[in-house]
Amino acid sequence: MKESPKVITPAKPGIRKANTVLSNKELCTLAKARPGVIEARIISPASVETAGWVRLKCQYGCSGYGSCLTCPPHTPPPDQMRTVLDGYNRALLIHFTPGSKVKATVVALERDIFLRGAWKAFGLGAGPCYLCKNCALPDGQCRHPEDARPSMEACGIDVYTTVHNAGMHIEVVRIHQQCPDFYGLVLID
Ligand code: SF4
Repeated sequence: MKESPKVITPAKPGIRKANTVLSNKELCTLAKARPGVIEARIISPASVETAGWVRLKCQYGCSGYGSCLTCPPHTPPPDQMRTVLDGYNRALLIHFTPGSKVKATVVALERDIFLRGAWKAFGLGAGPCYLCKNCALPDGQCRHPEDARPSMEACGIDVYTTVHNAGMHIEVVRIHQQCPDFYGLVLID
């Protein structure tokens, strides 16, 4: 009897998971081994809050606005960032001690995680970019694209709600003597 041809079911459209060998526990351990890290948790990117008002806080309240290529208006607006976040399954939310090298740490973690198979890994830090004395803004070409990363807030992420959603600690800074809570995020998959 003639064998009937095998029916190949096409792959389901949607999000493809990156081939990382790292479990949630291993990712948190990797982050916690870095200097200045208080806590690290795996969260769902769906719980990362984006909002239109965040850019107003950059534009009317931060001296870094428009000063570098990692700050608004040069960064993805909230709706674009939402689309980016919706393309991931896992993210690593990291709480830092004041004065920590947040951006350098998320860049290092992004690289570590990428090299273990998560090709979509991307880090977001806190605050403007201080890698160059004067940003290459007028030329529009970043001098250190491998190290320069935007902050979460620069991409329209409401850091307070995101941190609360994760059950982690953050407080509004009320007085100059108060130490702020610094956070970074690494999108993984
Ligand atoms: S690395 Fe330099 S050129 Fe790139 S965003 Fe930062 S300050 Fe600007």
